[in-house]
Amino acid sequence: MDSSIEQGGKCPNMFKQKYKIGDLIGCGAFSEVRTATDIHTTRIFAVKILIHERMERKKMEERVKREIEILKLLRHPHIIELYEVIDTPKKIYLVMEYAELGDLTVYMEAIGKLPEEEARKIFQQQIISGVEYCHEKKVVHRDLKLENLLLDSERNVKIADFGVSNIMSDGQFSTHCGSPGYYAPEVISGGFYEGPPIDVWGCGVILYFLLCGTLPFVAEENCSTFKKITDGIYTLPSHLSPEVKDLISKMLQRNPFERIEIPKIREHPWFQAHLPQYLTLPPPNTLQQVKKS
Ligand code: ATP
Ligand code: MG
Repeated sequence: MDSSIEQGGKCPNMFKQKYKIGDLIGCGAFSEVRTATDIHTTRIFAVKILIHERMERKKMEERVKREIEILKLLRHPHIIELYEVIDTPKKIYLVMEYAELGDLTVYMEAIGKLPEEEARKIFQQQIISGVEYCHEKKVVHRDLKLENLLLDSERNVKIADFGVSNIMSDGQFSTHCGSPGYYAPEVISGGFYEGPPIDVWGCGVILYFLLCGTLPFVAEENCSTFKKITDGIYTLPSHLSPEVKDLISKMLQRNPFERIEIPKIREHPWFQAHLPQYLTLPPPNTLQQVKKS
């Protein structure tokens, strides 16, 4: 456990003694997220507030414990940082780095779709480097989607919401996870599957969205969306370059065993174009270089 993350005791006012709660910035299925200002330093954080009673009813304690455990494990410039957990008799407060520009859906709604050069930068330097780091730490996110990619004030992507993530023990999972439009085919089919290919699939859907402004698999009903996903029915618009079409089709490969893996994504010609020097290094050095820049 990281010693820099304090675990507050069960004192009811522990949070209020230290922070001034602010505006509502997001609502999750079982939580609300607000800004919070550190009374002493005036630094602004995002705080995810979970109510014990509701979690017990929804059997969410385990999920929250896992999210905390995972966030404590991860330190990366493109992953939301957890600073403090304050557990009071009624509520749990997760004090996190504040991504003030909100999530990528908001940004994409304003922009529509991105030119390939800009999409490549976000994909290469931010999304893949963050996901690759998670996998090195044996963490699979499993719910990669635009809503869970936040932007800080300098428009850097921060991967958030590790609520359905898992730490790989034997490398296999069987629980359903994620959001319908982003579900990988093996998740829809059920049974056991490996974790990392699910995140590659999620990154493929995200890359498609960045370039096209829509999801690759959409339908009115979830079951029709699932059918399109399992049948592999989607179109690659003609404005996309042949290189990126090739990469997307390899990431959205229906068979998880044939799906491209992250080391091969790194070697792909579309990924390699305009690759910043620090990303040409193997992963551990990459992280140090990102930290320095
Ligand atoms: P769900 O399971 O329904 O996706 P959740 O309870 O796990 O939700 P999050 O997805 O972590 O909650 O957060 C909900 C929303 O709050 C996010 O979509 C985002 O808009 C906002 N949010 C969360 N964390 C931050 C943060 N660190 N900075 C800024 N906004 C945030
Ligand atoms: Mg979420």
